[in-house]
Amino acid sequence: MVKQLVSFALPVGENLTLMKNRIMKEGTKDSDPRISIVTGIHGDELEGQYVCYELTRRINENLNCLTGILDIYPAINPLGLDTASRYVPKSDIDLNRMFPGSKSGTLMEKLAAVVVDDLIGSDICIDLHASDIFVKEIPQVRVSEHFAEKLLPFAKLLNVDMVWMNATATVHESTLAHTLNSMSVPTLVIEMGLGKKINRAFGNQIVDGILNLMHEMGFWKQEIAHIKTPVISKDGQVEFLRASTTGVFIPFIEHNHFVKKGQKIGEVVNVLEGKLEEEILAGEDGLVFTLREYPMVYEGALLARILTGIKEDRKD
Ligand SMILES: [Zn+2]
Repeated sequence: MVKQLVSFALPVGENLTLMKNRIMKEGTKDSDPRISIVTGIHGDELEGQYVCYELTRRINENLNCLTGILDIYPAINPLGLDTASRYVPKSDIDLNRMFPGSKSGTLMEKLAAVVVDDLIGSDICIDLHASDIFVKEIPQVRVSEHFAEKLLPFAKLLNVDMVWMNATATVHESTLAHTLNSMSVPTLVIEMGLGKKINRAFGNQIVDGILNLMHEMGFWKQEIAHIKTPVISKDGQVEFLRASTTGVFIPFIEHNHFVKKGQKIGEVVNVLEGKLEEEILAGEDGLVFTLREYPMVYEGALLARILTGIKEDRKD
């Protein structure tokens, strides 16, 4: 059942309308256990669009297997999604820094408050994100240290390649996830893929993961086969590789592969002079879980992130 949560009139004569789809089979009560899937807080992150579509399609195909309520919120920042912009258009506001919001505040604070109000009461919430246009991410759950103990058992069910503990920026205090976790709704942030792109394989991997979590929590009767065991990072186990010069980055490795200490990750080259500016080498053995996709770089630009201190024989 598609429901409009709120519609705000905008000065330009348009409306900002927030929608959700409540999926449940006949006989389910509104007080039954509920799982909520949220995406589109950042309007340039589209991977979650496919996940919402495919999850809804697969659930509707076997609706009799659903126990409880599945709420899907595919567009928390609908104006951003309309223009594929990360922030709220014309305001440069990061909606994911507005939570918990305020019923008597600005338009965006009101929107944030409506979102929180509606999600409270969920037994679990999953917030889907998708990197940016510059770097590609493997499917991963990011949790802050504060909630790690509580969230890790859920994170392991989600069929991700990795769980990144203490990824501070993504799970900042004014995010939706931090707000909900503080209000006793376990909320997991998934990051994957690239901004403004949809990677169908990653999407299918996460749909399997959400169905597996639903199965383990008693929301879904079908068992899901071949769930990955994620590698789990702890503090200080992520190596950041950044450019120290301006140029064009040429990757020498594939994303989501293990590298050895000293292995060449890529080169930053000077196109005009046909000159090698910088060789980028791995400082440690590990898994390249972030890799630059956008070739133009400047000093300080992120080129790769390597998860170190793990063994290569992870199970897929
Ligand atoms: Zn995001």
